[in-house]
Amino acid sequence: MSLEDKPKEACGVFGMYSRALAGELAQQTYFGLYALQHRGQESAGIAISDGERTTAMREMGLVSQVFDEAKLAALEDGHISLGHVRYSTTGSASWENAQPEFHGRGEINVAVAHNGNLVGSAALRDELASEGFEFHSTSDTSLIAACVVAFLERGYPVEESVGSAMGRLKGAYSVAMICRDALVAFRDPQGFRPLCIGEVEGGYAVSSETCGLDIIGARFLREVEPGEVVVIDDGGLRSHRAQQPRPALCVFEYVYFARPDSRFGGQEVADSREKMGERLAEEAPADADVVIPVPDSGIMAAIGYSRRSGIPYAEGLIKNRYVGRTFIQPTDGMRQLGLRLKLNPLPSVIDGKRVVVVDDSIVRGNTSRKLVRMLFEAGAKEVHFRVSSPPVIGPCYYGIDMDTEDQLAAARYSVEEIRRMIGATSLAYLSVDGMVAATGRPKGRLCRACFDGEYPVEGAAEKFALERR
Ligand code: SF4
Repeated sequence: MSLEDKPKEACGVFGMYSRALAGELAQQTYFGLYALQHRGQESAGIAISDGERTTAMREMGLVSQVFDEAKLAALEDGHISLGHVRYSTTGSASWENAQPEFHGRGEINVAVAHNGNLVGSAALRDELASEGFEFHSTSDTSLIAACVVAFLERGYPVEESVGSAMGRLKGAYSVAMICRDALVAFRDPQGFRPLCIGEVEGGYAVSSETCGLDIIGARFLREVEPGEVVVIDDGGLRSHRAQQPRPALCVFEYVYFARPDSRFGGQEVADSREKMGERLAEEAPADADVVIPVPDSGIMAAIGYSRRSGIPYAEGLIKNRYVGRTFIQPTDGMRQLGLRLKLNPLPSVIDGKRVVVVDDSIVRGNTSRKLVRMLFEAGAKEVHFRVSSPPVIGPCYYGIDMDTEDQLAAARYSVEEIRRMIGATSLAYLSVDGMVAATGRPKGRLCRACFDGEYPVEGAAEKFALERR
């Protein structure tokens, strides 16, 4: 659910290379981004290239607000496209930081779409500035572009330039890039953020998630491997293993960020979420009459919880699906209204019942407190709060905008203290092992750092590190 104290998604990237579809790429890229909208709602952009000239449009707003038929038609035809939806995890939400970003020196230009957060970006920016690079945006994406340009200038081929640039980068980056007459996709050695490849008529598409491929009818081929550079041009698709892989896909993608119909490692995200609910029912049973989800992200886990516990499932909270980011914030005196704008209880499901309410995560706890109060006001006899992920105890440095430690409820309080804060009859979280098992991936191949403190890459990223300089 996109309530105010939830972590924010990072970004979505999309790209295509097809001469057979030249003339349709702007539209297809629009649809790809449309499917990835959940990964970023602040800005959207599309670039189209014929290998020599690149035209682009990027604006603040949702994909459907930024583009219409006329604007897509105004992008010149070409056989390479790049698209991006953004939520600002480094740098503020401003037009300058919208993507795709362009970077170049002299004859060499690249367009970049990036999902993730670099670690140590301030020091890297200093290094690149001392090499004569100038930066017009405060996002870390321009640093990735500059690193690649620096090697292209020395005459390295595209894959080696990107591979060598990766040696200078630390942190999370799943990137699609237009470079010369090629579409390039690459992923950090941990593969924190997802990126996959599909086949289209006469070429290929790359997308943050498989749902971006599905929408344009692309056939899923495989994921871009951690540490891999994929170059797509008239010669087809080439792979270059640039960095030793140390896989650590973000487990929060399974818990909350990715769309339920996307697939990682062949497993649907929806399936993982149902399994998280089943494990939760085993680990934290409740004596109750009904299981209700917090829509939408708690739905799959609640179904799993209901199935394993035998307690009937019902929709007890109705979500207003049309609340945008711009609605007028209610005053303090109307505090409950803030939540009621988005969720309203169904008394016929809740009144007189012992209710299990399933949510995917608790970050600050403010929304959970309002929710519990709302359920009691609707007549619930008991409210058993169940969370289909473990307590969030630390911040994320790899592209997810989460609160700092002092704002994270579980970093400061015990489960019992949080239960009292939110006013629930009982409160329980899924264990780290239970969450990991539900993904079907070995524990060592997942980043779980915000849940267990084991950070795969040292050093903190700072959201506005490049703006203070
Ligand atoms: S710290 Fe948490 S949110 Fe960030 S990449 Fe790791 S698991 Fe994902």
